[in-house]
Amino acid sequence: MHIILHNITKKYEYPVKCLALSDVNLQINHGESVALMGKSGCGKSTLINILAGLTDRTSGDYYCNNIKLSNERRLLSKFRRDNVGIIVQNFALLNNRTAYDNIALSINKSTTKKMIYDLAEKLDIINKLDNYPYQLSGGECQRIAIARALIKNPSIILADEPTGSLDSANGQMVMNILKELTFNGTTLIIATHDKSISNKCDRIIEMIDGKIV
Ligand code: ADP
Ligand code: MG
Repeated sequence: MHIILHNITKKYEYPVKCLALSDVNLQINHGESVALMGKSGCGKSTLINILAGLTDRTSGDYYCNNIKLSNERRLLSKFRRDNVGIIVQNFALLNNRTAYDNIALSINKSTTKKMIYDLAEKLDIINKLDNYPYQLSGGECQRIAIARALIKNPSIILADEPTGSLDSANGQMVMNILKELTFNGTTLIIATHDKSISNKCDRIIEMIDGKIV
């Protein structure tokens, strides 16, 4: 997926006014991998959420493959379902579902059980699929969340600190898997503080106070 952001601004009004993104312009190519870096509070998660269609924008335009994306919540949700795999910071796993069922939450009609098992094998969580999230370590939860994002073979993968709970070996393993997907044209955007992750990306984007520098 080819992405263009044009003068994107995001203002939060509650509980306190905050200009989280200010005139962000960005172009990301089909199959490109980009690391978003910058201090806590600089707007990385807000940018990821806008790219994902989880948050609407206050102003500015978002184009995917040169088609302007609506800013309406309902259409943003559809866009997300059809195109985006997102790995959020707190994993957002459902506690009353097993690891397998959490992964299966985002599958479509063409997903087979074998595809879920193959991905779980790759992420080294194959023997944990019957566990509930509270029976998993932080790193395992993170890999379940990653599997859930990848199983639908999305054209954009957005990852908010996806290796924060992983040791460096697992972090590199996850990064290698994400990077491999870009060879088939998946666009990858990762918010991270980890230099060993950002170094593997094609490009690093530095943010300060809601702006790209
Ligand atoms: P980062 O991910 O780089 O740490 P965020 O995008 O989470 O930064 O936050 C950017 C700014 O927007 C911060 O000042 C934060 O307090 C504020 N912010 C983030 N989300 C909300 C929200 N839902 N409502 C109000 N303010 C928010
Ligand atoms: Mg964040």
